[in-house]
Amino acid sequence: MASRRNITPAIGIDLGTTYSCVAVWQNNRVEIIPNDQGNRITPSCVAFTEDGRLLGDAAKNQTDMNPTNTVFAVKRLIGRRFSDSSVQNDVKYWPFKVVAGPSDRPRIVVNYRGNQKEFYAEEISSMILLKMKEVAETYLATPVKNAIVTVPAYFSDSQRQATKNAGTIAGLNVIRIMDEPTAAAIAYGFDKITVDANFEKKTVDANKKNVLVFDLGGGTFDVSLLSIGHGNFEVRATAGDTHLGGEDFDDRLVDHCVKEFRTKYKKDITGNAKSLRRLRTACERAKRILSSSSRATIEVDCLYDGIDFSTRISQARFEELNKDLFMRCTDQIEECLRGAEIGKTGVDVVVLVGGSTRIPKVQQLVQDFFEGKELFMGIHPDEAVAYGAAIYAANLNGQREKDMQNLVLVDVTPLSLGVRVSNGFKDMSIVVPRNTPIPTKKYTRLTTIRDNQTIVVFPIYEGESAETKYNNLLGEFSIDGIDPAPEGSVIIRVWFDIDADGILSVSAQVESTSLKNGIIIKQNGDLTAAEIQTMIEEAGRYKAEDEKHKAMISLEDLAEKLESLAVDPGRSKPDTKSMKEAAENVIAWLDRNPHADIDEINKRREQLKTTFPILREEN
Ligand code: AMP
Repeated sequence: MASRRNITPAIGIDLGTTYSCVAVWQNNRVEIIPNDQGNRITPSCVAFTEDGRLLGDAAKNQTDMNPTNTVFAVKRLIGRRFSDSSVQNDVKYWPFKVVAGPSDRPRIVVNYRGNQKEFYAEEISSMILLKMKEVAETYLATPVKNAIVTVPAYFSDSQRQATKNAGTIAGLNVIRIMDEPTAAAIAYGFDKITVDANFEKKTVDANKKNVLVFDLGGGTFDVSLLSIGHGNFEVRATAGDTHLGGEDFDDRLVDHCVKEFRTKYKKDITGNAKSLRRLRTACERAKRILSSSSRATIEVDCLYDGIDFSTRISQARFEELNKDLFMRCTDQIEECLRGAEIGKTGVDVVVLVGGSTRIPKVQQLVQDFFEGKELFMGIHPDEAVAYGAAIYAANLNGQREKDMQNLVLVDVTPLSLGVRVSNGFKDMSIVVPRNTPIPTKKYTRLTTIRDNQTIVVFPIYEGESAETKYNNLLGEFSIDGIDPAPEGSVIIRVWFDIDADGILSVSAQVESTSLKNGIIIKQNGDLTAAEIQTMIEEAGRYKAEDEKHKAMISLEDLAEKLESLAVDPGRSKPDTKSMKEAAENVIAWLDRNPHADIDEINKRREQLKTTFPILREEN
């Protein structure tokens, strides 16, 4: 049997709207893994250029120069329909193009190596996950496969499925899709007890505590109420808005500046992607400044038509612009408390996570709501989710010592799940009410509604409305070949099965017969197994292209270095001549062979170093 030491670590990935973070359990503690730039969080950003693909910081750093091919915030698209009002609203502000693909699924359109390419949100997310996987692999110096990927607690079934698929496309084995507030709560609970260096034995407190996690990030907002104690993390209720966060506050500032520019200069910048992108960057910067200063300046040189733009904004004005959005946060706290059936005085601790909880007005609103209760901000708002996910990943992966492993998590369903029945307008029959602990398996019994009905269709919905037209259709299936019988005499049992990832399967069987259409809906979300396979293969090709591009750049850099050494005045003549010639030959070869094989490129690099050992010294 492999010893615990030899187990390849599983990682925890917080796949955020604006930033992602990866952590691992190692040396008896959680380590937040810095990326190649030394940053502990990585922009959830992918860029496509003439030469190749850029991920993370490299992508974000060139946004202003390449706005239409720099993709960000795909978490707002994943698992959604193009015609969703939230998607329609977002695409208005984005400099990159999004179109409706098959089955109304959004497709992101970019120019990659001179060709127009379309990607699903899952594919872009998989590229970010791949980046995080590579960050971890470099740090740990070993291939990494197993990972927990976190999602907002309020993510729907299709958003969860799509996130899981993104992990698969990135070559990860997603051992669990975990709710972000639950992960943050583990980080909170763990933090409390690591002080005593013995987690489960001296849990948070001898008694259970009701902990409310308020998580306001870049694009999503979650509130969860957990009961924590004795190593148990039990989610009692969850509420939130998958479309509320820092990006919306940025939108308001952008909108404000667009209007000001229009008033001052009689010009509309909204049609210019580059101007919009540059303005957005300046607005986001100003927003951060306003978290610690009462005023900030939004300044963009040559914003549009050669006009420099500069405006001062106060904290009070920023708060005014976002008033309704901030208020939506407290509505969701109320909703969550209602779901958990406790009053605000029943909450022992309020934990703030997510970058946008640094906004003073947000903190004040939460504090006022809880009538002055102290807010807990002791865990790093950007890292808490990955931190908690890493602890749980290590648990599931058997990495932690046995006595540290009795960590029990109970999550709940964020939305009610049901089937459409014939009942006038109120046609949603709920089978699994929201906030039901998962995993769970529940059933309902339906009957035929016509004489001699041989086929029954089961449309499956999620949502809180009694009318399915306001809920979200997850999929449908049917049972065919039912023996003719009078109306109401055939009974069909419909099972809803939700696994620990919160992913739903539905099956149905005609009672006292073997007739079942054991259909599992949404097994792959919007994608078929074949589509996922194709995407995995494509992801491999993109990765190979990235590696080849890196190898070419590296060879070119080496040749240029040789050339500059050749013109060094301290060097003897015959030596410099051969150096110069070799460098020129390499550069000419690279120009002639854009499709050269990576092995051939690497071979030439090694040859150059062998012929000119000075290159090794210089490196
Ligand atoms: P997260 O998804 O938790 O990483 O949060 C990212 C969001 O937090 C982005 O929208 C950031 O603009 C926002 N953010 C980060 N720092 C601050 C700050 N100091 N003040 C206001 N918003 C911030």
